[in-house]
Amino acid sequence: MQENILEIKDLKIHFPIKGKIIPRVVGNVKAVDGISFSIKQGETLGLVGESGCGKSTTSRGILRLIEPKAGQVIFEGKDVIKSSKKELKEIRKKMQLVFQDPFASLNPKMRVGDMLEEVLYVHRIGNPKERKKIAENYFEMVGLNKKYMTRFPHEFSGGQRQRIVFARAIALNPKLVICDEPVSALDVSIQAQIINLMEELKNRLGLTYIFIAHDLSVVKHVSDRIAVMYLGKIVEIADTEELFANPRHPYTKALFSAIPVCDPENKVKKITLEGDMPSPLDPPKGCRFHTRCYKAKDICKEKAPQEIDLGGGHLVSCHFVKND
Ligand code: SF4
Repeated sequence: MQENILEIKDLKIHFPIKGKIIPRVVGNVKAVDGISFSIKQGETLGLVGESGCGKSTTSRGILRLIEPKAGQVIFEGKDVIKSSKKELKEIRKKMQLVFQDPFASLNPKMRVGDMLEEVLYVHRIGNPKERKKIAENYFEMVGLNKKYMTRFPHEFSGGQRQRIVFARAIALNPKLVICDEPVSALDVSIQAQIINLMEELKNRLGLTYIFIAHDLSVVKHVSDRIAVMYLGKIVEIADTEELFANPRHPYTKALFSAIPVCDPENKVKKITLEGDMPSPLDPPKGCRFHTRCYKAKDICKEKAPQEIDLGGGHLVSCHFVKND
């Protein structure tokens, strides 16, 4: 049985809103509002949901780039939220974040080789000669020729730049890499190359991934398990195969029904959700999805559903999942 590398317990990330005239807190944007999940060593957990549901905020909260309001983030047995600055620096070495836009992630004025060496320098790894060697090794590991390390980011294509971002992320020998929409800004043909690179690095270095994306076909391809988020909450989580074969939450069903299907024999009836996601500043009472749910009943407006365990790690938050 593999060990949990990361455990998130009742994590809340709120952003206070101050009044225009009197500078006091008049409300909170509840971007992430009490989520719990765990990830095993070597696993890839997909995190999906509409824009604004709290996926990216969750990733930043895990690394404490945003200070959570409450909850626990246990990484390798240590609570990240309670860690000192010094401990946090060590933890961040083992947890890396890859962003969507590789161009924005790289310093346009620095040569890419210097960027890789800088990361090692900041974490006091090796002497200049050793750092150069390590940087070359990781540059080649992501499929780039080390003779291009003296180039600037703009001299590379989008896919090559994302490879460089991955080289920088793995240069510190991390255990967990959080990938926030790592292929969304790339052409489809390049997306496949980066996904293959991620799989290669996972197998070679024993990495664990949190994979955030809105393209469900890509998430299905890379993830062992998937968590579905809606308005700051996880509404369903299960093994990828189980979730795609047997989605139980009305929101998950609606998301999956929007995936294009090539086979006319296997067409799924499209479920169109009415309206937009409500504001996390003032989330609806009861079940947060009730304003758009096609199965909502009166109780949904009053009472928030409990998480129901369907067995085999399949958890769903809906009042009516058992009658479904
Ligand atoms: Fe829909 Fe009610 Fe279930 Fe929420 S609890 S998902 S509103 S049926």
